[in-house]
Amino acid sequence: MTTFSFEFFPPKTAKGERTLWEAIRRIEALAPDFVSVTYGAGGSSRERTIDVTRRIAAQTTLRPVAHLTAVGHSVAELRQIIGHYADAGIRDVLVLRGDPPGDPKGPWTAHPDGFRYAYELVELVRSLGDFRIGVAAFPERHPRSADWDSDIRHFVAKCRAGADYAITQMFFRVEDYLRLRDRVAAAGCDIPIIPEIMPATDHRQIARFAELSDAAFPAVLADRLHAARDNALDGYRVGVEYATGMAERLLAEGAPGLHYITLNKSTAALDIHRNVLASPSARILNAC
Ligand code: FAD
Repeated sequence: MTTFSFEFFPPKTAKGERTLWEAIRRIEALAPDFVSVTYGAGGSSRERTIDVTRRIAAQTTLRPVAHLTAVGHSVAELRQIIGHYADAGIRDVLVLRGDPPGDPKGPWTAHPDGFRYAYELVELVRSLGDFRIGVAAFPERHPRSADWDSDIRHFVAKCRAGADYAITQMFFRVEDYLRLRDRVAAAGCDIPIIPEIMPATDHRQIARFAELSDAAFPAVLADRLHAARDNALDGYRVGVEYATGMAERLLAEGAPGLHYITLNKSTAALDIHRNVLASPSARILNAC
């Protein structure tokens, strides 16, 4: 089955909370397969992830996926969080190692009573109940992986540990996704790898994307966004058009779904999704 889904982050302010819930309600009307909520680097942001995910489970018709990272948690704390989710009826967890808090590119240090790698957390969640487990995949390979062979080997270890599916890091070249998918399949792992779709609508975002995700930004998109720098609507159109083209090609190439980053604003993700639904490659989505 081809899926479509949306990603939110836990807001920090009351205004952010209102914006998030407006987006959630608009997206709910489309009946997506699931929505996911990211997990912060620490402190109150983590509580907010748990609150938002529980509220989605309790007050909407949506199926929430809770992101969970191993950063700064002992195994006992991780067990407790997973238990809270199970109590709230949440059976979907996107299991991640996470990045060091503060400087995401700084040295990674595991909690003394915690885990070093995501596959260990996958094993824990799998041992605790009947969860549907997602993991991360990296079309341009994980920036800390020494080479492709080790990157794929460690990805496959997450499948063997019990992952049901993966969602990719954002990327802007379809070939990167296809290459990853083929490498994973050649290594004997056949879980669905869902591409993440990021609407890039503002030229100022480019540097930030590169910093956060190491995703290569195609010159053609960068040039078009730069040309549109004085007109937000033009930039929006460029970003939506580019992401629509990517999404259509990914579906035509057999991608098992589309996971849209919303940044808690539904507009661009919904416009891309509507475009995709109207295109021939979407027959498979329309059939769901
Ligand atoms: P792992 O699979 O553990 O891999 C990390 C590195 O370790 C890789 O280089 C891997 O090759 C290597 N490795 C794995 N196993 C071994 C081993 N046995 N021996 C040696 N090396 C090994 N971060 C957040 O903080 N919150 C979020 O909500 C969040 N959501 C995300 C959602 C998606 C879809 C994606 C793609 C990423 C998300 N991230 C999030 C970022 C993610 O936590 C980081 O990219 C992190 O650096 C990698 O996590 P991982 O689960 O892939 O780690």
